[in-house]
Amino acid sequence: MLKDSYDIAIVGGGPAGLNAAINCADDNISVALFEKDREIGVPVRCAEGTSEEALEKYAFVDQDAICSTFNRFKFVAPDKKFVEMESNSMRGFVLDRKKFERSMARKAAEKGVQIFTRAHVRRAQDKGKPVVKVNYAGQDHTVQAGLVIAADGIESRIARDFGIDTTLSMRDTDACYQMTLTNIDVPEDTVQFWFSEQIAPGGYVWIFPKGSKTANVGLGINGLYSEEKLAVDMLEEFVKENFPETTMVNSAAGGVAAASSLKQLVNDNFIVIGDAAHMTNALTGGGIASALAAGKMAGEQAREAILAGDTSQSMLKGFEKEWHRTIGKDYRRMYRLKEAMLKINDQDFNKLAEKFENTPPEEVKISKLMTTMLKRKPSLIIDVTKVFAGL
Ligand SMILES: Cc1cc2nc3c(=O)[nH]c(=O)nc-3n(C[C@H](O)[C@H](O)[C@H](O)COP(=O)(O)OP(=O)(O)OC[C@H]3O[C@@H](n4cnc5c(N)ncnc54)[C@H](O)[C@@H]3O)c2cc1C
Repeated sequence: MLKDSYDIAIVGGGPAGLNAAINCADDNISVALFEKDREIGVPVRCAEGTSEEALEKYAFVDQDAICSTFNRFKFVAPDKKFVEMESNSMRGFVLDRKKFERSMARKAAEKGVQIFTRAHVRRAQDKGKPVVKVNYAGQDHTVQAGLVIAADGIESRIARDFGIDTTLSMRDTDACYQMTLTNIDVPEDTVQFWFSEQIAPGGYVWIFPKGSKTANVGLGINGLYSEEKLAVDMLEEFVKENFPETTMVNSAAGGVAAASSLKQLVNDNFIVIGDAAHMTNALTGGGIASALAAGKMAGEQAREAILAGDTSQSMLKGFEKEWHRTIGKDYRRMYRLKEAMLKINDQDFNKLAEKFENTPPEEVKISKLMTTMLKRKPSLIIDVTKVFAGL
């Protein structure tokens, strides 16, 4: 039953919010998590690929939620020549996100977190105090909170209640469309990335296998090009041309923040995490690992603040500093690399694939691909040097 007050109120039941809940709740701390959708884990707007290392480090992995394991990467150039790379240090999983998030919700509930679905938070602050105004099961409620964690995804509104602007520019937003296809014949241990200005300008097509002849096939296009042609039309054309025998069982549209994470992540009584704080890897568009990492860091920080009876901005800054010192720093690099990648054209990709097409996958390294690209396009050297010099 919904109570009048909680120590911590979390808005959003995706990987960020759920992991924050798991990491802050215990017998002494009351936590409520509000999710506006009817169920945790659906709808799935995600290709569901993530790294094994990140999952093991930041979350617990329910084996049931793993559809396939990959350690091979296939990069397909516009002329369809391709490079394959094999790397055990970059192993990853394609998840069943519904099962994954359900298992996280179970774990949170075991720790005493009260989870409310069909609970749409309209506002989370009143006269400077953290107060959650939520429409739950068709009725409006006002709930007091010691601290609010906003994990409300890319369309976040909650951070604005605490004076943090989460607006994304077109350049930093990728428009994505994805289909889950069945009767698709792709190797289960390989994730594929197809590059072409025609198919996915400023982005790429992904094919992430889920086993049993099923795969998530989608594309993301940089916001600068998304008004020229719709992502859905581009994907339909791609599937028709390359996988005509397949059947679509599901489809989803969504945006990805191809940005650098927000600088300000905390205020008095407030923390913002996950997509809501633009914590995605701008180069790949991946945000599951960072949502889990931020959820863990923020959950631990929130717990410490409540136990110390101090939820001021200066207390919560510990989380902000830790984020920017670790993953935030890497992601700033990824953002600069993404900017550099926007300068690579179809011809450059074709030449790169031609050079590596006969190299055995275990001998292909990202660093080798990068060096070759730089030789071909010396103007990129300055951009890439800046990335690694942290300028
Ligand atoms: C098409 C597509 C493919 C992707 N593929 C990948 C991939 O393969 N790998 C990867 O790592 N990342 C991928 N991503 C990105 C990844 O899905 C996100 O980065 C990740 O889900 C972020 O987690 P989150 O918890 O911050 O936000 P979300 O998962 O978006 O969760 C936010 C939750 O908050 C709820 N909510 C929002 N507002 C309110 C409110 N006012 N009140 C209550 N609840 C609210 C929402 O309903 C939602 O459930 C993809 C994204 C898209 C769009």
